[in-house]
Amino acid sequence: MEALQTPYFIIDEAILQKYYHMLTDSLRQSWGNYLIGYSFKTNSLPWLISFVKKNGAYAEVVSEDEYLLARHLGYQNQEIIYNGPYKSEHSFREVLLASGCVNLDSQLELTWLSRLASEYPGQTFSVGIRANFDLEKMCPGETTMGEVSGRFGFCYESGRFAEALQMLRQIPNVSVIGLHLHSSSKSRSVKIFRSIAQMACKLQQEFDLSLSYVDLGGGYCGGMEGRPEYPDYFPVVAEELSRCFTPEKTKLIVEPGISLISKCTTFVTSVFDTRDIKGTRYVMTDGSRFNIDATMIKTSHLFHIIEKEQTSERPIMPQQIISGYTCMECDRMFTYENHPELVPGDQIIYENVGGYTMSLNPLFIQYFPAVYIRRNGSLIQVRRKWTPEDYVQGTTLIEDMKS
Ligand SMILES: *Cc1c(COP(=O)(O)O)cnc(C)c1O
Repeated sequence: MEALQTPYFIIDEAILQKYYHMLTDSLRQSWGNYLIGYSFKTNSLPWLISFVKKNGAYAEVVSEDEYLLARHLGYQNQEIIYNGPYKSEHSFREVLLASGCVNLDSQLELTWLSRLASEYPGQTFSVGIRANFDLEKMCPGETTMGEVSGRFGFCYESGRFAEALQMLRQIPNVSVIGLHLHSSSKSRSVKIFRSIAQMACKLQQEFDLSLSYVDLGGGYCGGMEGRPEYPDYFPVVAEELSRCFTPEKTKLIVEPGISLISKCTTFVTSVFDTRDIKGTRYVMTDGSRFNIDATMIKTSHLFHIIEKEQTSERPIMPQQIISGYTCMECDRMFTYENHPELVPGDQIIYENVGGYTMSLNPLFIQYFPAVYIRRNGSLIQVRRKWTPEDYVQGTTLIEDMKS
């Protein structure tokens, strides 16, 4: 087989399937009544969406564009879980009118809902409400926000949650049937999810809620050495939830993103040049930090190297700085210390890169790389590399302007 042109992503379908099954098995054993809403923002590659859809997942979307993408890829309105602060009123109405799942995030949406409810007095609108609560207090040091508050949903501690609930209860044809509790954490620990489940019980009791679903959100670990996997989370969640809920009445919704797709995704890059400047060896590769760490937060990478065949022995280099193809100085991935010299034609393959990579990739200097699926030992292209033709679509040149 002719070597494929790097850089490209590979998704291993068997590993993806394994993680999907691990998730469904664990949910089935722990709670039975469950629903998976796949987090579009984490990786919205159309092939991946078609995979999760085929396996029964709903679409968890957080913007009108993501909503329209879900519809474009065949999702019905009732198979949408609509979250986040940036919904459009039009799509908000569409989903609610079709009895899809909307988790209210703001005062603005309360206004939209009361308008909708008064326009359709004969229809009952069932909604979820996103709770903002002090998870940091329950799990010190573990949350993304730390001491500062998160900015999504209705704050429990300040009384905004209670107010919102009171307002919703005054609308005769609206009923609050769900709680959404997504919170991002640095630790992604089992304790985080135990605490989220405890919060669901606390809110249920304090406000006497009758819930058709509890939505834990996303934020799980998956495929990371020494870290929790799906079967570690859900027995604990079920233990807590069962104090206030039963699977017969209340569905458990989860919104996995990165935990499903990390392990199965790799990014293949090649060395195309090396150079020595003031005693530093730079190894130039055709992948970029923007492809695998667009938010520039990673401090280490999982990778392996495939050396091209060479007859001569490779000298050990004290330090090689592995860099990207872009013209930005910060585009450096890692420093490779006391290893054999890398030469053009060697491949560096990054692992665990499925989440927040493809969808956060900028169109900077090079366009989107190709994506392949590994199925039964062969690679099938599911996205070709983007070309300048893809880039210019929908744009206008001066020659095309009328006046
Ligand atoms: C980002 C997000 C998810 C998915 O998070 P992961 O860390 O990728 O699992 C799920 N639900 C909501 C509301 C989100 O914002």
